[in-house]
Amino acid sequence: MSASPPIEIQTPDLSPYREGSLGIPYVMSFESNKPGPHAVITALVHGNELSGAWALITLMDQGIRPKRGRLSLAFVNIQAFMSFDPTQPKASRYLDQDFNRLWDKARLDSMERSRELDRARELRSLIESADWLLDLHSMQHDAEPLLLAGLTPKGVELARAMGYPRLIVTDGGHTNGARMRDFGAFAESGHPQTAMLVECGQHWARSSIDIAITSCRQFLEAIDLVEPALLDRLGRAPRTVPQQVIEVTEAMTVQSGPFRFSRTVRGIDVVPKAGTVIAFDGDIPVTTPYDNCVLVMPSKRLTRGLTAVRLGRFIDS
Ligand SMILES: [Zn+2]
Repeated sequence: MSASPPIEIQTPDLSPYREGSLGIPYVMSFESNKPGPHAVITALVHGNELSGAWALITLMDQGIRPKRGRLSLAFVNIQAFMSFDPTQPKASRYLDQDFNRLWDKARLDSMERSRELDRARELRSLIESADWLLDLHSMQHDAEPLLLAGLTPKGVELARAMGYPRLIVTDGGHTNGARMRDFGAFAESGHPQTAMLVECGQHWARSSIDIAITSCRQFLEAIDLVEPALLDRLGRAPRTVPQQVIEVTEAMTVQSGPFRFSRTVRGIDVVPKAGTVIAFDGDIPVTTPYDNCVLVMPSKRLTRGLTAVRLGRFIDS
């Protein structure tokens, strides 16, 4: 187990939002009273990813309000967040089960109980009512931020309309359960509802807060929900750079374990040659299936059944 990086982010005080404005704790919703879409921005789906929470607080402190439709801001896995301890920062990702692996209708409708499932059910109607969803996350590695656009063209369209961050990843998630960003209509091409997950850099790096705020700014601009003058309170638009799309071809799940990488991995690594051994799963070597294979978000949580790394390639667009 590697040591945790330093905690540069203070633990935010979320007590002002405890009541919520819709009757759902820790969900604040702002109504324009004009027709328009419902946009939802979520933070703390993982209880120890603090940068997104600071971004939502900044949006509220800066008085960001919709000019049309509605904007809702949700602090999600509050119970896990409440257990955050800077001396054991990895421990509060979740309490009973990963909140971001529960999002299929059968699971939510089932009799199964956990603290995460209870909260998911509490938030379900909010998420189902979203025309646009931005879900703020962060990563284990100090890597370039990523937009996780899902598998539908509408996801990539939103990523391009945001124009930030630079790297767009198209992927279907994990074998051990569905993500919130892939719930229901979000994953279906025939419906306009669109979700985006953004990985804002390393969990506890100060810079991840700025990336989260800028991602919110670009999202709200892309969907034309907020007056431009108000948006500039979140900073100016980032410099335009050409975005690149990484198409994930497979999520490598730990089969037997112990799983160990046989090379240093940082977050986005390109392996030039097909057939290169990148890891061992038990005694079995794991090799790259094609040239210029991109290792996307290699994990430090290498337990059987969990995603160890996603493999992908840069695609022309
Ligand atoms: Zn996360």
